[in-house]
Amino acid sequence: MSYVGRFAPSPTGLLHAGSLVATLASFLDARAHAGQWLVRIEDVDTPRCVTGADLQILAQLQACGMVSDAPVLWQSQRLAAYENALQSLIHQGFAYPCACSRKDIEAAQAFAGRSRPRHSAAIYPGTCRQGLQGKPARAWRLNVQAVIEHFKLPTPLVWHDRRLGLQSQDVAAEVGDFVLRRADGLWAYQLAVVVDDTAQAVSDVVRGQDLADNTARQIVLQQALGLPTPRYLHTPLVLGDNGEKLSKQNGARAVDVRDPLLALNAAASCLGLPAFKAIRELETQSYLAHWLALQPN
Ligand code: GLU
Repeated sequence: MSYVGRFAPSPTGLLHAGSLVATLASFLDARAHAGQWLVRIEDVDTPRCVTGADLQILAQLQACGMVSDAPVLWQSQRLAAYENALQSLIHQGFAYPCACSRKDIEAAQAFAGRSRPRHSAAIYPGTCRQGLQGKPARAWRLNVQAVIEHFKLPTPLVWHDRRLGLQSQDVAAEVGDFVLRRADGLWAYQLAVVVDDTAQAVSDVVRGQDLADNTARQIVLQQALGLPTPRYLHTPLVLGDNGEKLSKQNGARAVDVRDPLLALNAAASCLGLPAFKAIRELETQSYLAHWLALQPN
């Protein structure tokens, strides 16, 4: 299989020390496998996107010596592909419209005596799975159990991460019927990401560990859409002084393009890699061999 890797930032802010770890890892992994490295701008969640952040991210990447090997893909240009994917799911009986608001879902959860887990969306109780009962459709959801049964997927779903090893998740019980198209008409990350990973022939997804628990959902969707599953590697997270993961939301500072070497060396050290003195050293055989030697598989 020929190697195609990708870095897929959401332009909701600039690259910071945390995101640069995943960027550098995906770049080194692609180079170490003599593969292609692609950049995709994940700008489907338009209300959260910051104007101009996409171009600034590309400039940050360039300053760090990382340039996409093929034209950059913007998800905002790919809406027809997501619509096709949804139509295919509807046609197969795997997607259904949902009339519930967030309040409805929380009320149904409370009624069933289940409280919402911290830091996660409420598990959808399946209210609209059997029909809308005259209410207007708001969102589209995947019928997870229908996909699992149709493809005889194991419960829990088990998948392999190149760094974390075997992972498992009972998607129906732990996540539920997740959203494919939101009530505001925007496409959900889960649908867009699997459609585009296939469209770009991505063989290897290398991204931050905070995204690891989306993987089982993405594998279920790939099955439902007849798409291949790439290999996955989730990289360590950078924690801020408060012990929380660095993120745009908690004000992580943008990578300073005036001193990319400093930022890259910090990212390298987080990945257990030696420091280097010039950006071009990143692509030397000896540096790439270091990267490969650190990967269990
Ligand atoms: N766009 C996502 C983010 O920035 C990453 C998606 C992915 O790598 O699968 O959080």
